[in-house]
Amino acid sequence: MFGGHLMWGNMYGEKPKMQLRVNWRRIGAFFLPYWREEATVLFCIVVAALLGLIPAYMVARIIDSAIPHRSLRELGIDVAIIVGSALVTIAFGVVQGYLNSIVGEGIMRDMRTGLVSHLHKMPLSFFTGTKTGEIMNRVSNDVDNIDNVVTGTLTSIVTNVVTIATTVVFMFVWNWRLALLSIVIVPLMVLPLAPVGRRMYNVRRQTREKRDEIESITQETLSISGITLIKSFAREAFEHSRFYRVGTDLMQLEIKLAMVGRWFIASIGAMVTIGPAIVWFGGGWLALTHALDVGVVVAFVQYIQFRLYGPGATLAGIQVQIVSALAVFERIFGYLDMKPEEYEPAGASALATTRGEIRFDDVRFSYGNDRTALQGVSFTVEPGQVAAFVGPSGAGKTTITQLVPRFYDPQGGRILVDGHDVKSLTLESLRRDIGIVTQETYLFHDTIASNLRYAKPDATDEELRAAARAANIDDFVSSLPEGYQTVVGERGHKLSGGERQRLAIARVLLKNPRILILDEATSSLDSHSEAAIQAALVPLMRGRTSLVIAHRLSTILSADVIFVVENGRIVESGTHPVLLARNGSYARLYNRQFRDETKVAT
Ligand code: ATP
Repeated sequence: MFGGHLMWGNMYGEKPKMQLRVNWRRIGAFFLPYWREEATVLFCIVVAALLGLIPAYMVARIIDSAIPHRSLRELGIDVAIIVGSALVTIAFGVVQGYLNSIVGEGIMRDMRTGLVSHLHKMPLSFFTGTKTGEIMNRVSNDVDNIDNVVTGTLTSIVTNVVTIATTVVFMFVWNWRLALLSIVIVPLMVLPLAPVGRRMYNVRRQTREKRDEIESITQETLSISGITLIKSFAREAFEHSRFYRVGTDLMQLEIKLAMVGRWFIASIGAMVTIGPAIVWFGGGWLALTHALDVGVVVAFVQYIQFRLYGPGATLAGIQVQIVSALAVFERIFGYLDMKPEEYEPAGASALATTRGEIRFDDVRFSYGNDRTALQGVSFTVEPGQVAAFVGPSGAGKTTITQLVPRFYDPQGGRILVDGHDVKSLTLESLRRDIGIVTQETYLFHDTIASNLRYAKPDATDEELRAAARAANIDDFVSSLPEGYQTVVGERGHKLSGGERQRLAIARVLLKNPRILILDEATSSLDSHSEAAIQAALVPLMRGRTSLVIAHRLSTILSADVIFVVENGRIVESGTHPVLLARNGSYARLYNRQFRDETKVAT
């Protein structure tokens, strides 16, 4: 195997020259918790390797001693020892297999949990910039791939190395001349390993990337939104050919992967057959000239075939496998190395929001592209106030609200909650006091009760019902045959948009936060649903500081303060009559968007 780290040259096709540092320590850290099991496995392997030396030795004794002495008793004992050693080896093998599973599966669990927990802590920007399918692929397929390496390959390496080591030592002790003859061709087997491994690593890497692509397409096209889109645009044929194309790419890569190093492995196989011939010749010559016993030559041939070249060939194959598996480790470590959100910034305090005052102080923010989403936003929302944000699409309203729970951090300025910079609070304490109802309500594929309890795991049934009643959804839920135990379907798609939204409101009511962020639905619901939601919002906003991205005239009229956002700036603020009288941006927006609503309403 390679030493400290590997350095690959230009092997990523067009990609820039990169250096792969294999962090053996880091890989080893995953094994550390299982050292007891590993030590026992090692013990089993050593015992099995030593036991494995016995049969060939006994064959030599049978040929050189039992048969010439015509001793049936000696023959019986020799054969019994062969059988006995085989049986004990089998028993050790079973124990070893069991322990291997414990180690392999344990490492898989640790790695998968570590990866998923790390991903849960990644900032939102990571998820908006990464395909879900790619993430899924790393968490499931990549980790599974490592399972093969851990449970199968590593044990196989140790077994074969120990087998070879014990055999070589035993052979030298027994007959050094014959031993020397047996190992002369070993270097020929080892030398071509590095280049083959490198090529395999490269192809394996491309294969993984192609799998990411397949997983992403599957995820996107088989999600409810995706499939609706495909059907509504009748793009099934296009999706078919796209999938076929990527599938073909993967097929070609897999074939390449299977073929890399085939010649090399085949030639090693040939050596396994040729090697004994050398020993037969040399051993035969020694038997003629130095009166070497024939049984010893027979035993040596057995040793080199089954305990030297055989394991050597396996090791060569495994080495290639291991190097290519490094591509998978690299991908997993790549994810683990990404910087997560800082949950507990240095010196952070876990303050409970008591009043709920929100202040933006010259906040500047860009999503990391060349456009500025917010350019110097300042405002204050007093505790308990309802602040409505209005403005054209893309003005920055959602961005403003997402900065409060620190889904993103501004590049300039400060955001204060109750006078504390949000950066000085632990994320847990900050987010505990903020409730968010977005346009796109997300529900887990679970029962209504479980979805509600996501906000408060220990909520009693009565609390659930009280929240649902306040959110105007209790009657509907109770009318369902299974009531609160009804499963809502993938993302809640078995419910109507209005029902989902009222459930989301009930969920936030259970959380009971000091601050509420509400993105009013733009999609128009029927007037009955609309009225039900409006009624649900009243208890939701009561006694809380609310930031509402307003799309309804009624919300705007009832707001304590209205902020007009344009091009990432707050251009006007005040109450409806004041702003209307000013005859500026708000008045224009009002005339364009809401006047008709007044007419319909009146
Ligand atoms: P709407 O009323 O249409 O929802 P909005 O006022 O809420 O619009 P924002 O969603 O805050 O607007 O977007 C402000 C700007 O930031 C837009 O130009 C948008 O294209 C950009 N933007 C929003 N989200 C991202 C993102 N994740 N990455 C990059 N740019 C983004």
